[in-house]
Amino acid sequence: MTTTVTHADALDRLATDLDGTLVRPGEASWDAARQAWHLSVDQRPAAVVLARSVRDVQCVVAVARRLGLRVAPQSTGHNAAPLGPLDGTILLKTSPMRAVQIDPQTRVARVEAGALWMDVTPAAAEHGLAALAGSAPDVGVVGYTLGGGLSWLGRSHGLAANSVVAIEAVTAAGELLRIGPDRHPELFWALRGGGGSFAIVTALEFRLYPITDVVAGVLFFPIDRAWAVLQTWRTWLSSVPDTVTSVGRLLRFPPLPDLPPHLRGQSFAVIEAACQLTDPEADELLAPLRALGPAMDTFRRAPMPELAALHMDPPGPTPGYGDGMLLGELSPQAIESFVQAAGAADALLSVELRQLGGALAPERSEGGAVDSLDAAFALFAVGITPDARAASAVRADVDAVQHAMAPWSTGGAYLNFAERRKAGTALFGASAYERLQAVKTAYDPHDLVRANHPVPPLPTLRA
Ligand SMILES: Cc1cc2nc3c(=O)[nH]c(=O)nc-3n(C[C@H](O)[C@H](O)[C@H](O)COP(=O)(O)OP(=O)(O)OC[C@H]3O[C@@H](n4cnc5c(N)ncnc54)[C@H](O)[C@@H]3O)c2cc1C
Repeated sequence: MTTTVTHADALDRLATDLDGTLVRPGEASWDAARQAWHLSVDQRPAAVVLARSVRDVQCVVAVARRLGLRVAPQSTGHNAAPLGPLDGTILLKTSPMRAVQIDPQTRVARVEAGALWMDVTPAAAEHGLAALAGSAPDVGVVGYTLGGGLSWLGRSHGLAANSVVAIEAVTAAGELLRIGPDRHPELFWALRGGGGSFAIVTALEFRLYPITDVVAGVLFFPIDRAWAVLQTWRTWLSSVPDTVTSVGRLLRFPPLPDLPPHLRGQSFAVIEAACQLTDPEADELLAPLRALGPAMDTFRRAPMPELAALHMDPPGPTPGYGDGMLLGELSPQAIESFVQAAGAADALLSVELRQLGGALAPERSEGGAVDSLDAAFALFAVGITPDARAASAVRADVDAVQHAMAPWSTGGAYLNFAERRKAGTALFGASAYERLQAVKTAYDPHDLVRANHPVPPLPTLRA
């Protein structure tokens, strides 16, 4: 009883100290505050804090330490599913902290912890610059970058984590650190690809690139042509330069009234690409794909902000379930299995293959915990799960696709495409995982900071 009163008092004091807002179970805004982008994830933390400042983050850490609670930083909740039950945890939402500054001279962006790609891409484009943004404009910049960051410029510019030049973060001890290659270098290494286990990031600074537009688009084919389309795409990939990043996928649009009639309820085999090429070069490169006779061809020169629509991600929070895997190669037999399994998986909205290689390959890497992907393709399968029945059908189909593609799996996984828990050694490799555990032990020995893909401190040093 005494403990409960102490908790309540401490949380009352926290509520008055904050620039932002504390929301507790039972309050009118509780359901909105605890909601993740993934609407099917039912987050039930001890409390939610909507942080407005670095000071808020420090106040939350101080109170959590005093009360023996943990802190789970979250920007959007795009990858909330693996977090698991949040008992004894304060969910620290950074969504109110969305300030973005672009320095055109140094070509560096500085963003607060809750910034989304839609806050950065158009602001950078005003200066003729591009960021290594992901496919969906409402993904959080920090969560995406801590997990690696696979963009439409990935094969020419590498993972987004490699472009980070400085990080500001509050540690489990409550200290605000500025982190870079020469300041807390082990923490700088861990945060670039190792996820959010090590500290609570309050700001990120990263390089931008002088790219104003690309030739980008989608070729849509009837889904029953998937085998021929994806076999041709597979062969075509061996001829593309690193300045081209492309995706082959099966895509089933739900019968939603706000979709245009030519997409609503329709299923396609699709090839998407972003090409840093001149128009004649792009036309020449795309010719073998166009020779297949797509039903729709949207390729054209597009300013960088338009890439936000290329992958046709859901426009807002969605109930869904998905997971990814890394493939070492894509042989004709692999395409055969992919088309069979993904073709039969009619509960899934999308099953995609993203080509890796180029600047994403290990031999071109630059030094964070995950600075490359040792695989030829990243596969991601996802479906919409409005109810329990849909959820079990989607889960079964994701399993079936992963089972069918297992012979080509590298055994590794890409953190951002991992929406179920994976072994740390699969996400990071054995030696990087060991080093990450040492960093966690040094900066957060009592495991205060909770990540969706956690790296726990070394057991011998836990209290
Ligand atoms: C529709 C869709 C499209 C996507 N497209 C791409 C893509 O093109 N390329 C790609 O690489 N990924 C992509 N992803 C995956 C996405 O990058 C991950 O889901 C990423 O984790 C999302 O980050 P977030 O901050 O939005 O999510 P959140 O769920 O809010 O955060 C994920 C995790 O990041 C950590 N984190 C977040 N903020 C902080 C902080 N301030 N301090 C410390 N840790 C923090 C936490 O551990 C948190 O659990 C996509 C996902 C979806 C659903």
